[in-house]
Parts: sequence; C-alpha cells; structure tokens
Amino acid sequence: MTNPPRTSEDEELDELDLEAQRRGPDDVDVEVEVFDAVRGNTNFPVQPVRLTADDTFNFRCHNGLACWNKCCHGADISLAPYDILRLSRRLKMSPAEFLLAYTVPAIHEKADLPIAKIKTGGDDGRGPCPFNAAEGCTVYEDRPATCRYYPLGMVSVKMKDMEGKDDFFFLVKEDHCLGHCETKTQNVGEFRAEQDVADYERVNRGWVDILMKMASWKVMGGPMGKAPSPQTKKMFFMATTDVESFRRFVFGTKFLDNYDIDPEAVELIKTDDEALLLLAFDWLKAVLFNEPTLLLKEQVLQGAIAKARETLGAS
Ligand code: SF4
Ligand code: SF4
Repeated sequence: MTNPPRTSEDEELDELDLEAQRRGPDDVDVEVEVFDAVRGNTNFPVQPVRLTADDTFNFRCHNGLACWNKCCHGADISLAPYDILRLSRRLKMSPAEFLLAYTVPAIHEKADLPIAKIKTGGDDGRGPCPFNAAEGCTVYEDRPATCRYYPLGMVSVKMKDMEGKDDFFFLVKEDHCLGHCETKTQNVGEFRAEQDVADYERVNRGWVDILMKMASWKVMGGPMGKAPSPQTKKMFFMATTDVESFRRFVFGTKFLDNYDIDPEAVELIKTDDEALLLLAFDWLKAVLFNEPTLLLKEQVLQGAIAKARETLGAS
C-alpha cells in the first residue's frame, strides 16, 4: 500500500512538531497579569482592587437608565474561542463567515498572539457593536464573556515563585455607567452565577492559560528565548477561532498519525466542538511550550528529535 501524498499542511505540521522539539519543556518565573475581561481601556483601575466571590457591590443594568446601550458603543471586545463558537452557532454561520462579517484581527498585547475582536461601527470604531439594537443586545443569550462580566473585569495573575495562577475580579466604574447608582446589592459570586459564565470559563480556560504563559515568556523573547514563528501564530489563530478549519486540519492531515489520541476522543471530536477546542488548546500547549498535554507517537517523536538535532548541528 502506498502512502497518501503529503500536503502542504502536513509539511506545516512537521515544522510545528520540530519547533516544539527545539524548545525545552520549561517554565519561566516572572510576575505577569493578563486582563481578560475588560471592554475598554478607559477608566479601568491601574491598580485594581481585588474582589473575592463574597465581596458585594451595587449594580443594576436596565433599559430605564439614561445610559442604556452607551457601553455597547466603541467597546473594545476581545473574543475568546468559546465566544466565537456560541455567536457563530447562534447566527447560523460558520466560524469563518462569522469572523469575516463581525470581527477584526488584533494582537493580544501582553501575549503577542493573534486574536479576534468585535468590529464596531463608525470610521473611528466608536460606533455601536453590530449586535446592539435599541432594545439592547440582540445576541444576549450568547453574548461574549467580557459582556457577561461587565462591570466586573477579570485578571489572571501569576506571581513570581507562585506555583499556579490566580484569578481575581475588580469593579470597572466608567463615568457614563449609571448602573452603579442603583440600589441592588449582590456579591461577585451571585453576579457571576446570574451572568451564567461557568461554561465560558470552563472552555476558555486553556486559551487563557496559553496567553498567560506566553505573556510570561515574552520578557525572555518567547518560549526558550525564541519567539513563535509566523506560521505557529497563524496556526494559533486558526485553532482558537475556527473550529471547522481546525477539524479539517485534524482529520485532513497526518495529525492523528502523529499524536497519541484515544480512539474514543477521536470519535468525540468529529462532532463535539467544545471537545475539539480543548484538544486545540492541548495541541498548542505542546507546540508552543513542549508541554506533555498531547504526546507525539514514539516513532514520530524519535524522528522529530533526530531532525531537531540535525538542524541544531548536534552529532
Ligand atoms: S455583544 Fe451585546 S452586550 Fe456585548 S457589546 Fe455587543 S450588543 Fe453590547
Ligand atoms: S448601566 Fe452600565 S452596563 Fe447598563 S446600559 Fe448603562 S452603561 Fe451599559
């Protein structure tokens, strides 16, 4: 039996495996924080006051307020992978169609990785969000995580010498937002439950981990002192924004020949988009940081090591 011809995507996959082998499975110990639920850059505290789940605040948003919809104009909304999945499903579009119609490409500043942001109207980008209407948010049940958190911001922090990372919340008080003058009191935990953020946090966790880790490596020039190649960044964007393209990549290349993936998991990712996203994060952690989240099959691994040694000039 002859092997099927190699595609350019197979070549890319080999190159990414090789790039991972050149890096060590390592970590860097610097302080880093990633703000991942802030809708604008204005007026959020430079030194956020940490709120715990039990801390209370006054806030109520409703259409009787003079500020109704103001916060949906000129909002700077980064979309996490699960946001894109939920919104494209709701709008009955493929992720690629959704990205083209409603987003602009951007760079996550701290991590230096490509992400998508909602394309707001107006020449200066200060116009309305495309999902904003007089009656409010037209995609409310599937609105992005950042919109759910508002007026809370979320920060993931890794302190020097700290094992894992820590998430905390803080209150964003923008001048135009009158919801803070309302008398409704709730604690952070109650507000988060009301906003139904659990699925968003569960699915997006791996993406936030990658941003955090890349941000912490950035001061060293990238993982093991080497910035990811443009090709790796392109694959990061594809895998984290477009599950359909990533599924075609997994099933249309040597991906499943290269990586050791449980047959049941392979069946699952044929149809389960959330499971596929989790696989994407594991794969990216392996490629970017050489983490053991997804293992190369032994034969492939030996080949990649030999090739890496060759390109590094080792005997
Ligand atoms: S998605 Fe909805 S809540 Fe978020 S900015 Fe747009 S209209 Fe406002
Ligand atoms: S209360 Fe705040 S969150 Fe609600 S519409 Fe007004 S500005 Fe937006």
